[in-house]
Amino acid sequence: MGKRVPRIIEKIKAATGACVIPGCSLAEYTTYRVGGAAEYLVDPVNMEEASWIIQNAWREGIPVTILGAGSNVIAPDEGIEGITLILNGSNVPPVFYDNGILQVEAGVSLIELAKLAAMEGYSGFEPIAGIPGTVGGAIMMNAGGNGNISDILTKVEALTSSGRRIQLTNREMAFGYRKSIFRGSGWLILNAEFKLGRGKKEQLMKDFERINEERRIQYPMDLPSAGSVFKRPPGDYPGRLIEEAGCKGMNVGDAVVSSRHANFILNRGSATSADILGLVSEIRKMVYSRSGVYLELEQILLASRP
Ligand SMILES: Cc1cc2nc3c(=O)[nH]c(=O)nc-3n(C[C@H](O)[C@H](O)[C@H](O)COP(=O)(O)OP(=O)(O)OC[C@H]3O[C@@H](n4cnc5c(N)ncnc54)[C@H](O)[C@@H]3O)c2cc1C
Repeated sequence: MGKRVPRIIEKIKAATGACVIPGCSLAEYTTYRVGGAAEYLVDPVNMEEASWIIQNAWREGIPVTILGAGSNVIAPDEGIEGITLILNGSNVPPVFYDNGILQVEAGVSLIELAKLAAMEGYSGFEPIAGIPGTVGGAIMMNAGGNGNISDILTKVEALTSSGRRIQLTNREMAFGYRKSIFRGSGWLILNAEFKLGRGKKEQLMKDFERINEERRIQYPMDLPSAGSVFKRPPGDYPGRLIEEAGCKGMNVGDAVVSSRHANFILNRGSATSADILGLVSEIRKMVYSRSGVYLELEQILLASRP
């Protein structure tokens, strides 16, 4: 990488309000609380800055890794080369229109957005209200529970890897179960537009609180995790298969299979990403030998852009 990275970092500091931290631990920016150091962690104030930073870095051939709230990723113990761009937050507020259209930057927290929508009397976020990620991360993953983010999403503005800004309609984003056109594309999701319904504020706020309370009961929230580890195989549930294979409570180092929800791996102290991946591999072997099902990872293994 030579002197190119320090040069681009100086340029970012001069031209934007982004916070730049060299050698920052990724464990502080991921909900698993694992990962080595990001060579440079860059936290822009909004998506305009993010877009400027990524285009300048790409032009210089500097690898850029994108992170939202870090709630669905496994960050490598060896750290990440180049720039890790943190897109968790924005100084641009969401805009609600009377016709139910909502425009929002990708860095906005989904939980805060769902709460704000309920407070403003807009419905539609209920099935995804408690998911602890950003709008951008949720679109990338087509995050959901009883419904998915794609159910209310109408448009996205994105920056392609060739530096072109494009608008995509819902249909063009090719959504499926935990998949979208963005997965593996290297594109940057900038802004999103949703179509919401109207409802009574008091009822929507009650629903929001209830959904979050139900999630607190259903999911183990007391230790760091990144949500469900494996995708649902056709006609079955990973939690059921993992429990049946006798993996509940199993551990590799400080990475342990939750005894409450078997499709969660928890970091009970000082787990590493190698521990988590070791446990993933053990679970897969045991489930495969018991039921013949090969579990596919839902969580994303972070790596630098080549
Ligand atoms: C306790 C817990 C419960 C959870 N429950 C659920 C659940 O019910 N349903 C569910 O679907 N998920 C769930 N998750 C997983 C996770 O919260 C979601 O997948 C979430 O949408 C990820 O968003 P994020 O901002 O954290 O993305 P990250 O984990 O930061 O990133 C995920 C991927 O998106 C990319 N990305 C992020 N932002 C952008 C952007 N602006 N442009 C381009 N790429 C981007 C990253 O590069 C990465 O590849 C849970 C996680 C936890 C910890």
